[in-house]
Amino acid sequence: MKAYKQQWYENNRGIILDKAKEEPDVKEICVCGSTYWMKRKYIHEQTVKHCKYIQALQNTTPKPQPMTKDERNEKRKEKHICLCGSTYRKRDKAKHERTQKHQHYLKQQVANKEE
Ligand SMILES: [Zn+2]
Ligand SMILES: [Zn+2]
Repeated sequence: MKAYKQQWYENNRGIILDKAKEEPDVKEICVCGSTYWMKRKYIHEQTVKHCKYIQALQNTTPKPQPMTKDERNEKRKEKHICLCGSTYRKRDKAKHERTQKHQHYLKQQVANKEE
């Protein structure tokens, strides 16, 4: 009986070893910087180091923030500095271009060119 068991073990060990040879385990380098065996990937993904890395990654990835109402208002009020030295709001551009100061500046520019 003992001999039979021994024989069974010998036979099956051969099979087990063959199976191991068929699927060699591959070492992978994880994004977290660790290396793990492919077959143990799921174990590695539960390690503290890996989890911390993934968490940190999610925290540092900036999420696109929708513009707040205030920011939109600021954007609208945003002032532009004109070549003439004045500042004007974007929506007032046309109005500004009709101002004396701006017109005067334009005339000067033309005069300078003609010199
Ligand atoms: Zn990892
Ligand atoms: Zn101007």
